[in-house]
Amino acid sequence: MKILVTVKRVPDPNATIRVKPDGTGIVTDNLKFVVNPFDEIAIEEALRIKEKGGGAEVVLVSIGAKVAQEQLRTGLAMGADRAILVVAEQELDPLGVARILAKLVEQEKPDLVLMGKQAIDDDANQTGQMLAALLQWPQATFASKKESLESEAEKSGLPGIQLSNGTVTVVREVDGGLETLRMPIPAVVTVDLRLNIPRYASLPGIMKARKKELKEIPVADLGVDVTPKLKVLRLDPPPKRKAGRKVSSVQELVHLLHTEAKVI
Ligand code: AMP
Repeated sequence: MKILVTVKRVPDPNATIRVKPDGTGIVTDNLKFVVNPFDEIAIEEALRIKEKGGGAEVVLVSIGAKVAQEQLRTGLAMGADRAILVVAEQELDPLGVARILAKLVEQEKPDLVLMGKQAIDDDANQTGQMLAALLQWPQATFASKKESLESEAEKSGLPGIQLSNGTVTVVREVDGGLETLRMPIPAVVTVDLRLNIPRYASLPGIMKARKKELKEIPVADLGVDVTPKLKVLRLDPPPKRKAGRKVSSVQELVHLLHTEAKVI
């Protein structure tokens, strides 16, 4: 059993993002980058499947600048076995990434590809679906946990992703509830927030990660057309919130809501 987990380097979701004055991108000086939080959940899930037995190999893959080594090392320190970095310094769109991943899947032949449901930098939520389509593999998006069950025993017996006898069963979040799907493997599964809480890398894990294999492949070596099909025209920060105003009485508040805000 081999599980390929995708890992994107993204800005820290807790950092303050500043848009460049000309709207062509965000200011990256002094910006902290992390593993995309949904991808951390995917790594955690792969490690849990591995630890349950069956001897799964967990292989991480990232596509992007050389600095993404940092995020792959974080995943290796969590417990993944090895990592692949497809070095691409140019801008890529989700279709380009999906095409590269499809090529790697051809080479690595994993039984399962686990991905985040979306990357928090541009919230595209497209790559997993495109990869499944390119491979013509079944897919389940937004894997979650069966939290609606009453008893703890039932809950612990039903993780969001279960592999058995050549199939994968996935509990997924849909509007209004949960849906359970079963499909044959190989398959693509994208994970949502409530699936698990990712572990922190331990100190021994960090030490071991330094010696684990991190293979770099220049994107040109894969022979994949990654010309972007979409272009980001501009970015605009959200409008600044106006300062609040203090009123001295409820009467004044009601009066202003009526005459100025015109909401009552
Ligand atoms: P997106 O479609 O861009 O929202 O991304 C969905 C998922 O695809 C992410 O959570 C990652 O697991 C994966 N992904 C997207 N871009 C990359 C990348 N450059 N390198 C590795 N994984 C990626």
